[in-house]
Amino acid sequence: MSDFLYRRGRLYCEGVAVERIAASVGTPVYVYSRAVMERNFRRYDRAFRGCPHTICYSVKANSSLALLSVLAGLGAGFDIVSGGELHRALAAGGDPGRLVFSGVGKTAAEMEAALRAGILLFNAESSGELSLLARLARKAGRKAPAALRVNPDVSAGAHPYISTGLRQHKFGIDISRAEALYLKAARARWLQMAGVSCHIGSQILALEPFLEALEKLLDLAERLRRHGLAIRYLDLGGGLGVSHHSGEAGPDIGEYGRRLRRILDSASGLRYHLLLEPGRSIVGEAGILLARVLYTKRGATKRFIIVDAAMNDLLRPALYGSYHEVRPAANLRRRQVEADVVGPICESGDFLAQDRRLPEVRPGELLAVFTTGAYGAALGSNYNSRLRPPEVLVEGDRFRIIRERESYDDLVRLERL
Ligand SMILES: *Cc1c(COP(=O)(O)O)cnc(C)c1O
Repeated sequence: MSDFLYRRGRLYCEGVAVERIAASVGTPVYVYSRAVMERNFRRYDRAFRGCPHTICYSVKANSSLALLSVLAGLGAGFDIVSGGELHRALAAGGDPGRLVFSGVGKTAAEMEAALRAGILLFNAESSGELSLLARLARKAGRKAPAALRVNPDVSAGAHPYISTGLRQHKFGIDISRAEALYLKAARARWLQMAGVSCHIGSQILALEPFLEALEKLLDLAERLRRHGLAIRYLDLGGGLGVSHHSGEAGPDIGEYGRRLRRILDSASGLRYHLLLEPGRSIVGEAGILLARVLYTKRGATKRFIIVDAAMNDLLRPALYGSYHEVRPAANLRRRQVEADVVGPICESGDFLAQDRRLPEVRPGELLAVFTTGAYGAALGSNYNSRLRPPEVLVEGDRFRIIRERESYDDLVRLERL
């Protein structure tokens, strides 16, 4: 969070005091630092210099057009999981030749659109999907570049909802069955089996699971090559975690790169083109959610700070029990109290933080919820008919709105009486 710092007791994002943003745009509001996002992307890019690679930012982590356009400008490719994300990636100026399409349930219409766009790689997850892809490719008159997303049976130790690489998960194809399926698919005229893919989970803090997965992918790719398949891409997916506690470092992108490079350099790895699909590790720490205190109250056993942001704005605490640091935007030197920070929604699960030591805040004061750039706005909803918050991008000492706050008209626009 190095670009979210307190200066003279006030929280800044880069060169902008966040109070200024709240005063001008209102709350709740998501605030992103362009510098943090760019730095993280460049770390990935640098870590694989000299090794053919494409960093395909995972659009689902934060699909804001402005953020996608910044990343496209740095040479990012994109990992998409729906027709909507394809639309966004192209609308933001993304290069179709750097798009990979993941997901366990792609529809025919989505695959047709991706074929028309001329994407880099389809990561197929079942033999049914491969057959449909082959039929659509024939209809479109162009070969479909494809990989199988294999399930390497690596345990990543993340939350059960975001851990995806074990045998019991719905994702991918068991790696022991992949070879036979590849050999069958290689005979299909309209498929070009060009890669081997996996994605083992999300918010993974150790590097070992990635190394283990890469070794398994390499081994499979080598076996397929010996069968005469022209496997060119190794797609290791995303999943590198971020630290949610200030003063604690998350996994280091440079170190991740060095350890993967060591495997690629020592095996026959350098003949492959590496694809990575990071989402959270690029945008997570680039964002905060600003909320204003509405009320404070004492329950029978707890204190509550009721703010104007809620689980519809930031679902992660309610969905995953995830921890996000909350601090006042002005570094208040008041007495510390223990409290839950909760939203206005009619659900007991509507909390942003529980049992936290915080300075005693008052109505009207501003709180920042940290490390919310990934899976924050993207998981937002209109639950309780709340308007989705605006999003702001800070660039040095300037800021601009990259998504307007919704209006009540927006809320009912698609409905008919
Ligand atoms: C979600 C997802 C990613 C991104 O995961 P992060 O944890 O945000 O890096 C990458 N690839 C696939 C297939 C995904 O489903």
